[in-house]
Amino acid sequence: MIRDLSCFRDKAFIDGAWIDGDAREAVTDPATGATIAEVPVLGADATRAAIAAASRALVQWRARPAGERADILMTWYRLMLDHQDALARILTAEQGKPLAEASGEIIYAANFLRWFAEEARRIDGEIIAAPRTNQRILVWREPVGVVAAITPWNFPAAMITRKVGPALAAGCTIIVKPAPETPLTALALAALAQEAGVPAGVLNVVTGDAAAIGGALMESAEVRKLSFTGSTPVGRMLYAQSAPTLKRLSLELGGNAPFLLFDDADLDAAIDGAMLGKFRNAGQTCVCVNRFLVQDGIYDAFVERLKARIEALVIGPGTEAGVTTGPLINAKAVAKVEQHVADALAHGGRLVTGGDRPEGLFLRPTLIADVPAEALVAREETFGPLAAVIRFTDEAEAIRMANDTEFGLAAYLYTRDIGRAMRVAGALEYGMVGLNDAAISTEVAPFGGIKASGMGREGSRHGIEDYVEMKYVMMGGL
Ligand code: ADP
Repeated sequence: MIRDLSCFRDKAFIDGAWIDGDAREAVTDPATGATIAEVPVLGADATRAAIAAASRALVQWRARPAGERADILMTWYRLMLDHQDALARILTAEQGKPLAEASGEIIYAANFLRWFAEEARRIDGEIIAAPRTNQRILVWREPVGVVAAITPWNFPAAMITRKVGPALAAGCTIIVKPAPETPLTALALAALAQEAGVPAGVLNVVTGDAAAIGGALMESAEVRKLSFTGSTPVGRMLYAQSAPTLKRLSLELGGNAPFLLFDDADLDAAIDGAMLGKFRNAGQTCVCVNRFLVQDGIYDAFVERLKARIEALVIGPGTEAGVTTGPLINAKAVAKVEQHVADALAHGGRLVTGGDRPEGLFLRPTLIADVPAEALVAREETFGPLAAVIRFTDEAEAIRMANDTEFGLAAYLYTRDIGRAMRVAGALEYGMVGLNDAAISTEVAPFGGIKASGMGREGSRHGIEDYVEMKYVMMGGL
């Protein structure tokens, strides 16, 4: 029972206290549909209380030496490692991914805390050569202030630490609104943050009504920045809502990742990359491959090899040993994948394997070849275990097809020709390119997109910039 775990919490966390609400809503296990917990449904009032707490806490938190903030983040990091199994069990229970993947996510998530604990001590200023001899120009780098984070359900731990880590490192305080599907991981992280010594009000987690919480966060002039990860439509709406108070924005939105496979590629590496890039988290990541663009000469071999690997995947509850593919998050997600499958077949796609739904929210990993460019799957993010393969002949055609989308998050490219690698990586209109490697997510690199995939970068030394303002001080009369 996840309820017996020491970091399990089923109340919201505001100003260092665990808060209940008049109404509660169920958190369900997508593998079984069973209710595993209930969390408070809070709204605008609780959100305003969290903003007020974050504003009060900001005064002392930003004034603390960076080394002290770093030590607290590092303690939180170690507590996450100590509770890795418990956190993974909570995550799988509410999100569905296999336990091994959930354990991996806990490490990945914790790594952001360690990374930003290290970066906290290097938020340095500048001295600029002044135009007159009796002047000095100083540039200070200060925290932006109170920050709001709105996070999705597909990485319930990592999407929080990659925002809270840099915020706290920079001296900001934060209010997190986790996805309603996965609040328990967020609350467990808050419990460990409290244990690590994060002061009251510095981190708040508000569960409940997305529109009411989001509305209160967006209308508040005290909230100086929003970091959002989620769908492009909601991102656009939050962008508009942030206009009256002119908030800083980091938006990590949808993608439509192409995977370009050239005849000269190492097919073994490409197949491994294809499986990781497509089927991790049952295809529910924003950097998941949506379109396999494959050159004529390697096309048949790729489809054949991918088919065999897909058929070896094991569907089932994430808690069962050997399972590689858990359920999708909800019925809407299943319906979208089924729509993309039906549409691709209706457009003349060839079903190679899968295509059926065993039961509940489980979908059979599916491969469709010869998909035409007009099919929905070629244009919209599928967010599920459907691999669509599209044929191309030459490099220019592949680049044109890859860029023919409003999105620009991740792209993958497999080739052993160094000239082609550099040409194509340069031509891809994306924020991230995996060249002969699909494992692109790491705390040390700048993660983020362009075009309708959003703005801002998370991770790396650049990830801290979104949480820092510059103040220029002209010292005259020296
Ligand atoms: P998905 O469709 O994958 O759930 P969303 O963009 O709807 O993606 O959700 C991402 C996050 O945005 C979640 O935390 C969700 O609750 C939140 N969200 C959805 N609608 C709103 C809204 N109107 N205001 C603020 N947050 C919202």
